[in-house]
Amino acid sequence: MHSAINCPNCGTPIDLDLTGLVQGHRFTCPGCSARIGIHHGSQPRVREAVTGMQALMQERRKGARQADTRTRVTTSMRARK
Ligand SMILES: [Zn+2]
Repeated sequence: MHSAINCPNCGTPIDLDLTGLVQGHRFTCPGCSARIGIHHGSQPRVREAVTGMQALMQERRKGARQADTRTRVTTSMRARK
């Protein structure tokens, strides 16, 4: 699962793999070369947050698909007139 965070040091957006981050991988900021990683002690809490975020994003994707359908229906109704 890929995401982006802003570097805590210089604010540059950093693309990172949240799954890798939870597993203890480290990422380097392209702006200032700061090393971004999670302390081993906070990994369980981060893993929980990531799981919650994934569920939220799945819900959002479902909502987006419903909105698409609504738009298409409106368009076809307009075309019929
Ligand atoms: Zn940075």
